[in-house]
Amino acid sequence: MVTAETRKARKRPERTCLVCRGKFPKEELRRIALVGRAFVWDVHQRAGGRGAYVCAKPGCLERFERRQADFLQRAFRKKLNKERRETDGFFISPGQ
Ligand SMILES: [Zn+2]
Repeated sequence: MVTAETRKARKRPERTCLVCRGKFPKEELRRIALVGRAFVWDVHQRAGGRGAYVCAKPGCLERFERRQADFLQRAFRKKLNKERRETDGFFISPGQ
């Protein structure tokens, strides 16, 4: 059923959190971008290219940080294809 409420909600771009699979407005998520061969926190969400998102819940960030490689692999596996082997592991570069 499409109500006025759902139409309104659709106007905001939503992305799925890698960890809890919950959907959130883009601006409430932290974006991880694949830049060249490295994963970085895309603080301003302007890096373009391939991206994945983690929501702001402390539990999600903690789980993500403990198992970065697993989550990144899952998020980017399909998108990476051939490039996968050329990526410098599945770890986000330190720092912002
Ligand atoms: Zn989450």
